[in-house]
Amino acid sequence: MGCGARERGNYKKNDIVTVVIEDIGNDGEGIGKAAGYTLFVKDAVIGDLVEARITKCKKNYGYGRVEKVLRPSPFRVEPKCMFHRQCGGCQIQAMLYDRQLIYKQDKVKNNLLRLGGFTQEEVDGVMEPIIGMEEPWHYRNKAQYPVGYDKAGGLVAGFYAGRTHDIIANTDCALGAPENKQILEAVLSYMRENNVTAYREAEGTGLVRHILIRTGFASGEIMVCLVVNGKKLPAEDKLIERLREIRLNGREEESEPRASGSAVRQAEKFVPDSAAGSAGAMESGKRKLCKKITSICISANTEKTNVIMGKEIRVIWGGGKIHDTLGGITFSISPLSFYQVNPVQTEKLYRLALDYAGLTGRETVWDLYCGIGTISLFMAKRAKQVYGVEVIPEAVEDAGENARENRIDNVEFYVGKAEEVLPAFYKGAGTEEQMLRPDVIVVDPPRKGCDEKCLETMIAMGPGRIVYVSCDSATLARDLRTLCDGGYVLKRVRAVDQFCHSVHVETVVGLQRKDT
Ligand code: SAH
Repeated sequence: MGCGARERGNYKKNDIVTVVIEDIGNDGEGIGKAAGYTLFVKDAVIGDLVEARITKCKKNYGYGRVEKVLRPSPFRVEPKCMFHRQCGGCQIQAMLYDRQLIYKQDKVKNNLLRLGGFTQEEVDGVMEPIIGMEEPWHYRNKAQYPVGYDKAGGLVAGFYAGRTHDIIANTDCALGAPENKQILEAVLSYMRENNVTAYREAEGTGLVRHILIRTGFASGEIMVCLVVNGKKLPAEDKLIERLREIRLNGREEESEPRASGSAVRQAEKFVPDSAAGSAGAMESGKRKLCKKITSICISANTEKTNVIMGKEIRVIWGGGKIHDTLGGITFSISPLSFYQVNPVQTEKLYRLALDYAGLTGRETVWDLYCGIGTISLFMAKRAKQVYGVEVIPEAVEDAGENARENRIDNVEFYVGKAEEVLPAFYKGAGTEEQMLRPDVIVVDPPRKGCDEKCLETMIAMGPGRIVYVSCDSATLARDLRTLCDGGYVLKRVRAVDQFCHSVHVETVVGLQRKDT
């Protein structure tokens, strides 16, 4: 359908226009104007002069995609991955890394201004420069690859093309652990050799849906989990055989997985100089680590859903968990538990959160949305008592085990929703001042941010400091407005680039109660 109207600059779908890209949109797309008509151009980099094809016209703006780069931006770089334009994962891989960081810093700042209603002075006064990554590749410790068929009917594993469920065959992602390629190929050859089918989403038939690979960067332990449309796989022993044959890093693998429980010792054995958790040592990439598969499991997911993992996990070989070490603390990680995906940056993030919490050893701290207790245990070393709250039971079990394994006994974890557990605790606390008023509350919610009830209770409890860790600066800005209207002021804000080459950014905020 043509656009026609004057406001649309007389453009219509499939028109080719020349656009100077002057800004970057929320999804990483370039923004520019053609004769005053604003266009959002996919895959254009700020500073480019491009020829774009219009893909959709709206009254006041339209969408397009790059046909030809007429004059490349100084911020345009050669992407590492040939699939980056099709794949939904790395929206800004063609942008110079340092420019990506500026984009993310601005994104957080603009959300605070526009969605949080903070003034320019308030924001400029507290915002510190974003923390980037020295080597922003192969940083992810977790990857979930869909398995299916290509157009010719061949078995493939890879990634969904942006906004679709078409699978692009790519076993060699530039963000994932380098070993993933060998592992994926081993699983695919097991499937071919044993006539194991891949899931066909449209019909709900076929077996293997996803391959989840999780790697403990400090321990070298790898978990491979196949998500299956059914309870079992044919010839599971052949799968185990195939995976155990792999020689990662060209080295011999140990013949048997170790029993879980000796995580600390194991981590020390493999990474002598990062047992103390030096992010620098990890980042320099100099550590010599023997990676090995220590866990193979099956997750049954027979639902017609976009949720990747099924609720039950069956371990078919090795232990059911892997381990990782951050800041000298070793964590057990179950397949279903949340664990930050970029361990190098996570350590920096947690140190920042700890710094913002301003602990002296006498404080009571709540860690809401605590996952497997990572932030709780970081804080516990410098606090009197820490309470963690998390909704996933398996994660809370991991949290308890992590506390015991690291011999940290001033932490207690509760299973439940933050917005239910915190108010219930507050009501039941009686008159005991320390329970009613903790010194610090840390929150690290999922993208949708904190529930209103949770924020209200935090304000009512009135801790001296609140540390807000966020993976979505839009909901962060909204929640900060509520907290600041409830008597808090922004003290420090800092973004950490956990998700290099994507448009996502992590932020840590320190708030203080006005009357303290
Ligand atoms: N702080 C942890 C986890 C952060 S991710 C870390 O850094 O590793 C957010 C966590 O919140 C997830 O573990 C998720 O399971 C949990 N969660 C989601 N909604 C919740 C709710 N309403 N109450 C408590 N936890 C919730």
